[in-house]
Amino acid sequence: MKIHALSVGRLSLPNRHVSARRRTLPGRYLDVWCDDSQLEPAPIFCFAIEHPEGVIVVDVGETTDVFEPRAVDLGARVLVDRDGLDLEPADELASQLEAVGIDPGEVSTVILTHLHFDHAGAVGAFPNADVLVSRREFLAHRLLPLGSSVHRWPDDLEPMRLTYDGGPFGPFESSHRLTDAGDVLVVPTPGHTPGHQSVLVREEEALLCLAGDVTFTESQLLEDDVVGIALDGRTSRQSARKIRRLLERERVVYLPAHDPETKRRLEERVPTTIDASD
Ligand SMILES: [Zn+2]
Repeated sequence: MKIHALSVGRLSLPNRHVSARRRTLPGRYLDVWCDDSQLEPAPIFCFAIEHPEGVIVVDVGETTDVFEPRAVDLGARVLVDRDGLDLEPADELASQLEAVGIDPGEVSTVILTHLHFDHAGAVGAFPNADVLVSRREFLAHRLLPLGSSVHRWPDDLEPMRLTYDGGPFGPFESSHRLTDAGDVLVVPTPGHTPGHQSVLVREEEALLCLAGDVTFTESQLLEDDVVGIALDGRTSRQSARKIRRLLERERVVYLPAHDPETKRRLEERVPTTIDASD
């Protein structure tokens, strides 16, 4: 099994988008909306798992079509229009996969941590893949498509909607087994969005946690800092707490999508550790 972290463009986010100053909505969102600061551009990481049972892709990023009018809703539009998204055709996941020798047509499974445009927009580039999303996330984006580009998905794309029937895993009450070997699992980590999920990959030496936007960085996980744009801050914190409990039990390499250190941490299998003095 070989795993690649592939950066599919960069986001320049306002400080309050990343790190919340207020705990509850709508104040927290207002804070994000009014903040015109820009942090250093952050990567958008997707992952490709070359598994004996097939190529699994975790999140797909966007395509440059996102710059067209009405490609995304107002919430995401503000970000895109403020030069918040840096994305060239060569950054798109299909090109990034080809660069590491993977034909997008051979991807058998696409699993989406959540449906925000920077994670789920390019899903049409994988014609032979089953697309998996949590049932809750899919329903939520039908009702309130905040930050979504799902309306640009191919008309005939029917994602499989996960309900996590695979039993508990560590601190998680339920899971979904993605491979027959049982070495790739999906666990619910809601809060950032209603049906956000994370992917766990069991290796001999460590458990890899492909965490999407549970937090934007490793330090946010360790410091109990909530992402400003999280829809439900309290639930988001509970999900992060479950991941911290995993860290206490075993060697975990924590890999959020927007942490500049994610690629290095994956390649060197650097575990995330909780300071014993905390
Ligand atoms: Zn997100």
